[in-house]
Amino acid sequence: MVKGDLIIVKNSRVHGTGVFATKDIKKDSRIIEYVGEKIDKDESDERYDRALEFSKSNPDMGMVYIFDLNDEYDIDGDVSYNPARWINHSCNPNCEVEIIDDHIWIIALRNIIAGEELSYNYGYETIDDFEDHPCKCGSNNCVGYILSDDLWPELKKKLEKKNSVSG
Ligand SMILES: [Zn+2]
Repeated sequence: MVKGDLIIVKNSRVHGTGVFATKDIKKDSRIIEYVGEKIDKDESDERYDRALEFSKSNPDMGMVYIFDLNDEYDIDGDVSYNPARWINHSCNPNCEVEIIDDHIWIIALRNIIAGEELSYNYGYETIDDFEDHPCKCGSNNCVGYILSDDLWPELKKKLEKKNSVSG
């Protein structure tokens, strides 16, 4: 178990390991910094491709933990000293990710009660392979796939089309 000031990492009902609040957290608080190895864009692209390739044969592994930091660098959060990498995706998240002065922060979107699991929308921006990323977050508004909410209207259209073809 990894323990921070406001969070604890433990088994999640949603998906394997998760991150939980140990105290009440106020809306807009900086909860934890998403830390990792600072890599340039070329290195980042290479790692991304490698992870994607790996995940094809190991569906539950090969997660990509790389975040855009700025125009020059990314952060690869796949390191043991980054408990934030265990935060799960949700379609109804209580946190969001914000970059503040070249640091990546997990910020509370609303007041969070001690014991609640933390989540944010992973914000995947590619809709073409949405079926590779099913979502099991269990929210009432779950769209079934891990996808940036900007793309939800587009996803809805795709799903309707699919259903009308097969049904
Ligand atoms: Zn969901």
